[in-house]
This record gives sequence, structure tokens and C-alpha cells, in this order.
Amino acid sequence: MREILHVQGGQCGNQIGSKFWEVICDEHGIDPTGKFTGDVASDIQLERINVYYNEASGGRYVPRAVLMDLEPGTMDSIRSSPYGKIFRPDNFVFGQSGAGNNWAKGHYTEGAELIDSVLDVVRKEAENCDCLQGFQVCHSLGGGTGSGMGTLLISKIREEYPDRMMLTFSVFPSPKVSDTVVEPYNATLSVHQLVENGDECMVLDNEALYDICFRTLKLTTPSFGDLNHLISATMSGVTCCLRFPGQLNSDLRKLAVNLIPFPRLHFFMVGFAPLTSRGSQQYASLTVPELTQQMWDAKNMMCAADPRHGRYLTASAMFRGKMSTKEVDEQMINVQNKNSSYFVEWIPNNVKSSVCDIPPRNLKMSSTFIGNSTSIQEMFRRVSEQFTAMYRRKAFLHWYTGEGMDEMEFTEAESNMNDLVAEYQQYQDATVDEDDYEEGEGEEDPNFE
Ligand code: GDP
Repeated sequence: MREILHVQGGQCGNQIGSKFWEVICDEHGIDPTGKFTGDVASDIQLERINVYYNEASGGRYVPRAVLMDLEPGTMDSIRSSPYGKIFRPDNFVFGQSGAGNNWAKGHYTEGAELIDSVLDVVRKEAENCDCLQGFQVCHSLGGGTGSGMGTLLISKIREEYPDRMMLTFSVFPSPKVSDTVVEPYNATLSVHQLVENGDECMVLDNEALYDICFRTLKLTTPSFGDLNHLISATMSGVTCCLRFPGQLNSDLRKLAVNLIPFPRLHFFMVGFAPLTSRGSQQYASLTVPELTQQMWDAKNMMCAADPRHGRYLTASAMFRGKMSTKEVDEQMINVQNKNSSYFVEWIPNNVKSSVCDIPPRNLKMSSTFIGNSTSIQEMFRRVSEQFTAMYRRKAFLHWYTGEGMDEMEFTEAESNMNDLVAEYQQYQDATVDEDDYEEGEGEEDPNFE
């Protein structure tokens, strides 16, 4: 058994996290009371159930989930939602003060006061595991709790469990969706932490989610519910290979080994096909070629960056439903052959794919894409520009220094993110000849000018 411990923090983290549990409970045949009501004739729903669930007395399945927040509101709604009773009541840890969209409150003051209670619950869950493979954290980066306290928790977990994997589902802020001006500060301070203390980060960019809702799904005023529908479909797809039997990326470490050629470059673009809106019951019958084409399309990426502006270091694709593995392989090879300039040539066989029999609800087939693309720098550049515009004038800084933060941390976070952008650019420009050239000529590499 290789268990994963899930933590969700803050408003966004709790909202997307609880949707994730609804979706996977449904896929594994777990009803809101924790009872298995799935297909008894087949083992497939329960074979790897222990990855995400504990088995309690009476055969009840309980999510291995910890819910934290600095205010009670979101958790109250979760508790009274259809699946609210499935969570272990002791695993709700919350305060009353709120974080006021202030990363410093989440990371250094209010959050720091509550963190030990969260760690107690985390420790208890970890002790119950047979062989914990790692953690997954759901949070937004633009607010105060999920962002500041979320990254505090991540660093504490790293300290206590240095050899376990840390996967995050991180929601990046966009002015299209939010009206809080300090979000670029909170996001940059968080990225600084995630670069150092996270192992793999699934980027969920509200800018892209909004655009998908507006442009592709034709929703004129997308709500968080609409955005979160895309997120839960993506999270279900991304974790499919961890939850169901199969070979490819079957645990967090294998996923990391396949996708991360350099440790800092662990921010993934995720794509999903077909895109459907919330509540739509369409049984879209797509073909494997159509799914493949859509999955690689910039319009289907949950991150506002165009893969054609960069190159793929690595990528993985998970197809779901009944289909021919041979056709999947052919289509995937086809994409790579036709677009070879968009894949770095110095990592041979950098695209992997797999098929899982069980499709998501309401679809016959789907596919999820995880790409490590250098073009993700576009999103970091966007946040960085917004950060710098304010930081240049030290606007709003007093809210942070008032909580005891040093300006230095802002400067460091800013340069760490700029370094990250530069590293992506460096590998985007790198060609296969560079080492030969360096060794052969002993001169400076012309590709790194
Ligand atoms: P926290 O409770 O202090 O962690 O703050 P929030 O989670 O509300 O963080 C604010 C950021 O999260 C902003 O960028 C919001 O646009 C975003 N956000 C809040 N709730 C949701 C949600 O349910 N879904 C999505 N996609 N984004 C959200």
C-alpha cells in the first residue's frame, strides 16, 4: 500500500478539494456515507482504494484528508454539503481570525498559530499509513490562507518527512477572476516557497480557466463553480494513474521521475479533453485522434501559456475509456513527428502515454495531459510583471511589514521567480549540440548568449 495524504487549505483549496473528493468518490463507487456501492463483480474500483482512503470499521471508506482554514465559513458549507459527512470530523482544523488576503498573516502570524494543530492531525494520519508515498495540497496562491499558510505547512511537512513526495494543485491568480490587488505579491511569495519545497506542482491558472469558460464553453459570466468544474475534471484525470491499476506514473515518485529533468522545473501545464461545461450531460463521442488533437491544443490548457511559444521537456498523457492502445500510441507518435521542433531533442522518448479503462462520469472517453513546457514561463512573467509594477513603488507593503515581514523576502521571491523564468528560457534555447561544442571547441556556448 502506498498512501497519499491530502490537505486542502483556504477558501479556494477547500472548494476545489471537496469537489475532487466528490468526483473520485463517484468514480470509486463510494457513497456519501462512505459505503461502497460500486461494481462488486470487478475489483477495479477498490483495488487501489487505499491510496486515498482509510478503511474504518464496518467497511466504511474515509478520505485521508485534512481540511484547514483560518475562518470557519467554507468548512461549514462543506460540512453541510452532500459529501460533507464523509470526512473525519477531527480533521477539520480552523481558526476564526481570517487571513485577509495577506500572505504574511497566513505564513507568519495567524497561520503560524494554527499550524501545530494541523500538523498534529497530519502526523496522526501519517502514522496510520502502511507506507506513505507523499502528500497532495490543494490551495490558491493569490489569497492569504491557502497561499501563506499552505506554503508554511508544505515547509513543515518537508522538514518532518523529507523523503516523501509533495504534490500541489496550485491555483494561480488572474485579474480576470479576482478583484484583490495584492494577489501578485501573495503568488510570488508562494512560488518562491514551491520552487524550494514542492516536488511537483500542477498549475491551475484562473486566467486560463476563465478563458476556457468564456471562449470555449460560451459561459458569459463564469463562476467559481464553473472554474472548479474544470479543475475537478483535471484533478481526476491527473490522479487517475495513481488511483487505478496501471503501469505509467503509478505513484508520485514515478510521475516525478518521468516529468522532471531538473529539480526546480517542476511546474506542469495540464490539459483536458473533451472540455464540457458543468451540468452538461452530453455523451460526446469523440475519437482517439480528436481527443489527441484537443489535448495538445493551447485552448485546452489550464494555464495561460501557449506551448508553441516554447518547447516540451517532457509530457505524459492519460487516456480514459474503452479504446485501442495501439491507436493511442499511433496518434501520440503522429503528434510528435508532425511537431518535432516543439520537443527538446536532447531528451529522447520524452512523451509517454497510457490508457485507463474507466472513463469519467458522463463521458465515454477523455484524456488528460501533463506537460513540462518551457512556455510556462509566460505565466510566471505575467505574475512577475504585476508584482514588479507594485513593488517598484513599495505599494501595499505595509500590510506585510506590519505582520513582521522583511522587505528582503519580497526581493528574494522576485529574483527567485525571475531566475526560474531564465532557466526555462535557457533550456528552451538549448540544443543537442551544445555539449559537443563545449567539449570540442572549449569555447563559450553560442546558445546561451
Ligand atoms: P484564502 O482563503 O485566504 O486562501 O483565499 P482564497 O482561496 O479566497 O484566495 C483568493 C484567490 O483564490 C483569488 O485568486 C481567487 O480568484 C481564487 N479563488 C477563490 N476561490 C476560488 C475557487 O473556488 N475556485 C478558483 N478557481 N479560484 C478561487
